[in-house]
Amino acid sequence: MSFQAEAVVDVSAISANVAGLVAASRTQVLAPVKANGYGHGLVPAAFACLDGGAAWLGVATLDEALTLRRAGVKAPVLAWLVGPGQDLASAAEHDIELSAMSFAQLEEIAATKARHRPRVQLEADTGMGRGGVPPTLWPGFAELAHKLQSQGRIEVTGAWSHMACADEPEHPANAKQRESFAQFLDVLSSAGLSVRWRHLANSAATLTDPRTHYDLVRPGIAIYGYPPVSTTVKLTPAMTLRTRLAMVKTLPPNHGVSYGHTFVTPHPTRVGVAPLGYADGIARAVSNVAKVVVKDKICPIRGRVCMDQTMIDLTDVDASTGDVVEFFGNTPVTAQDWARWNDTISYEILVTVGSRVPRRYVKAAE
Ligand SMILES: *Cc1c(COP(=O)(O)O)cnc(C)c1O
Repeated sequence: MSFQAEAVVDVSAISANVAGLVAASRTQVLAPVKANGYGHGLVPAAFACLDGGAAWLGVATLDEALTLRRAGVKAPVLAWLVGPGQDLASAAEHDIELSAMSFAQLEEIAATKARHRPRVQLEADTGMGRGGVPPTLWPGFAELAHKLQSQGRIEVTGAWSHMACADEPEHPANAKQRESFAQFLDVLSSAGLSVRWRHLANSAATLTDPRTHYDLVRPGIAIYGYPPVSTTVKLTPAMTLRTRLAMVKTLPPNHGVSYGHTFVTPHPTRVGVAPLGYADGIARAVSNVAKVVVKDKICPIRGRVCMDQTMIDLTDVDASTGDVVEFFGNTPVTAQDWARWNDTISYEILVTVGSRVPRRYVKAAE
């Protein structure tokens, strides 16, 4: 055990989560691996998803998509947030499908000079109020897409949208977005476009509403083991963030701990230095709030989280230098607990694990 700090990623958990989502949804899965595979590592996460039966991979940027191709990924890849002025020809050359969220973007994709005809998926705003073409413009958007396809300049392969409130299954926006998406598909077919891939569902909709499933589902966070809604589908957190105590000592009573002395020892207190800090994604906001696991005991963080280190209260555990400190993992302290302490969602906890922390890939069976 030579590591200082590491994020252990169980790729077999990612594969099993994907397989579980394929089985539960009875739909093909597009696995989102954007943002460095939600912090788990873009390429290893991608291969783990494909091992689990993902039919597609989804990323935000063209750069992420090209990285997958360079790593030898042959599966279909969709990039859904490609801004103006990017090298769209390289997308077509590398068989990367692009999403078009506006008229201008559709025109830009069609103007690409590439040996292969660019393949495009049309994004509608069905109520998210983010990317995508709004409903009043759908007829014109469909007409333009149909025209460009007739001219042989693009091939329209998909139509999709994104849900705003699916993690609140009773929210009235969900039914509205479902209906709106169905209308978008009607507009496309009225314009003479038939699309092979229709998709709407994120993790929450994949787990709660089969009416959103269509031809593909796009469950992101669930793949990494953190369902945003309660579910009977078995999903296992894939990442464990841990380090080892760099030092252990006993502070006398009435001694301040870390910057600003926001914690003062009430009695003689054994504390440990854990070499992970806010540069590594341990938010300073969880100072004096979060808890970690040392030798199966849950121990509180004391004082302010620093850039590179955090102080742990070891009163209840017989720990010494070199012992493992688990910040979060499968159990008993998870990224969901950290999300609660930090007033955020598990997504942000996972993607903000710093680049200084090496990822180590294991299969649980090993
Ligand atoms: C991130 C993302 C997803 C996955 O969302 P989850 O809530 O993680 O399931 C799906 N589709 C698009 C377009 C996304 O950007």
